[in-house]
Amino acid sequence: MADEPCGSRLAYDRHIRHGEKPDAACRAANTAYKRERRALPPVGLPEQQRAARAAVADRVLAGYAAGAGLLTLAEELGRSRAFVRRILTEAGVARRPRGDARAAAVRYRRAAQRATARRLLVAAFEPVARPGDGVTPERYAQLAVDALTAAGLLPPRPEDVS
Ligand SMILES: [Zn+2]
Repeated sequence: MADEPCGSRLAYDRHIRHGEKPDAACRAANTAYKRERRALPPVGLPEQQRAARAAVADRVLAGYAAGAGLLTLAEELGRSRAFVRRILTEAGVARRPRGDARAAAVRYRRAAQRATARRLLVAAFEPVARPGDGVTPERYAQLAVDALTAAGLLPPRPEDVS
């Protein structure tokens, strides 16, 4: 294999290996290489990357189990539909038939509406829930969700429908 010409990082490394003093062209190439490396986004350790992917995979599986479709999950997670499909395939999850998928998507949307309502209510009750009175913002929110659902202002829970 021909030696890398001067003015490249490999040539710089070769100088160092041979105990030579690198010339200006090789020093410049090495500096440029290091600057480029610093500019790259930090790449986590393989362990961290695996953990991050596992966390996304968990969200895909939980979302799909809750009724979300591939496109919905892709949009929510900022990933492609192919990525979501791959996660499901790797996990051996059987895809829902078309009719079931539509019903599941409705369930998912209603659950999401309820979750949003609960989040807003928890935030709204935060100022009135005093520590020590045993009634948390979450409990206030649950009571409010129950009242709103009973009044027909929130979609019923899927388990109450079926
Ligand atoms: Zn050189």
